[in-house]
Amino acid sequence: MEVARELRRALDQQELRVYYQPVHDLQDSRLVGVEALVRWEHPERGLVPPGEFIPIAERTGLIADIDAWVLDQSCRQMYQWLAQGAPLSFLAVNVSSRLFARRELYAQVAQVLHDTGLDPAFLELEVTESAVMDDPEDALEQLHRLRELGLRLAIDDFGTGYSSLLRLKRLPVQKLKIDQGFVAGLPWDEDDAAIVRVVIALAKSMGMQVHAEGIEQVEQARFLLEQGCDLGQGYWFGRPVPAHEVDWSRAPTISL
Ligand code: C2E
Ligand code: MG
Ligand code: MG
Repeated sequence: MEVARELRRALDQQELRVYYQPVHDLQDSRLVGVEALVRWEHPERGLVPPGEFIPIAERTGLIADIDAWVLDQSCRQMYQWLAQGAPLSFLAVNVSSRLFARRELYAQVAQVLHDTGLDPAFLELEVTESAVMDDPEDALEQLHRLRELGLRLAIDDFGTGYSSLLRLKRLPVQKLKIDQGFVAGLPWDEDDAAIVRVVIALAKSMGMQVHAEGIEQVEQARFLLEQGCDLGQGYWFGRPVPAHEVDWSRAPTISL
């Protein structure tokens, strides 16, 4: 209850921050996109990670306001970056499964795109498997409507929930994000390696892009590249940072 009350205040007093984590093309190591990740700059507790307040925000309904705020802020930022000539091709924003249940997502996203002026082709929304699989028919309809706005859709944390492959095939989704839990064991853990190979093959055969999260070591990036994974994100490439620390002008120095 107390955290919920504080969160309300955090929104009103602008204590939330959007951090951006770089996403690199594994083929040539270029920075190609960013993922927006929310933080709470608490006056006493310091920078609070989303894992500590998103679940509470979801239970209290505040999540709709938080996600709308993050979407608005990050779309404005992306608009600015593009205006400055940043070679970024996408901004990824997380969307809570709770927003799916409430069916107000379409109107919210349309509003933000209108307000910020960001070309929807640069926006990617990340949804989790469970958001989509809980009520597949409804989710399918909502995803198709979102796609009509001209944005792209990604499944986040793929492999941690349950997916019906039959349903996955019908989803208007352009990307699968391999969960960091599978990347952690690469390249030595044989189970992780097998799972990652299969997910990459699955995504490719369905015409989707594959994006791996949680890359902390160069060996992991190399394995993923060898297996045909398109994009990589993780501490090895760069941590989530405030907007002014995102250095899109730097030439790629990382070589796999
Ligand atoms: P996610 O969307 O899967 O984001 C990836 C998480 O992995 C981020 O944690 C990121 O900081 C972390 N990460 C990135 N690279 C590495 C790495 O190399 N090693 C390790 N160990 N971790 C890495 P973060 O920022 O704490 O966010 C956690 C989760 O909170 C996100 O997972 C997402 O589900 C949720 N979240 C974050 N921002 C938002 C938001 O604005 N709205 C909603 N609804 N959820 C959000
Ligand atoms: Mg995400
Ligand atoms: Mg994830």
